[in-house]
Amino acid sequence: MNTDIYKTKLEEEKKLLEEELKTMGKVDKTGDWEATPESEIKAQDVEDEGDMADRAEDYEERSSTLSVLESRLGDVNRALSLIENGQYGICEICKNKIEEVRLEVNPSARTCETCMKKVI
Ligand SMILES: [Zn+2]
Repeated sequence: MNTDIYKTKLEEEKKLLEEELKTMGKVDKTGDWEATPESEIKAQDVEDEGDMADRAEDYEERSSTLSVLESRLGDVNRALSLIENGQYGICEICKNKIEEVRLEVNPSARTCETCMKKVI
């Protein structure tokens, strides 16, 4: 399988995810992302009212968005390391190849179509 195309897609997604993560949190000492506390956001120079409203989302809400993004980033990193190891595109459950159509839509997919349906 030619993994170059998936690698490119994954690296792009990784970049986007990291940018998005940086807008609402930071990496703590253990390497996990955590949401920026309200107090720190207010301390940052906020230019205008609209910007303020955007940033005024709940800390809770930001934390939950952050953990979704973080787990997506985890999947992307995992897929990238599988490419490095030559193990990319193998279903975690049945160990068969993941359909390429599926990988095109979701390059960080961990299971094949059949197993995904079984899980749901
Ligand atoms: Zn499978």
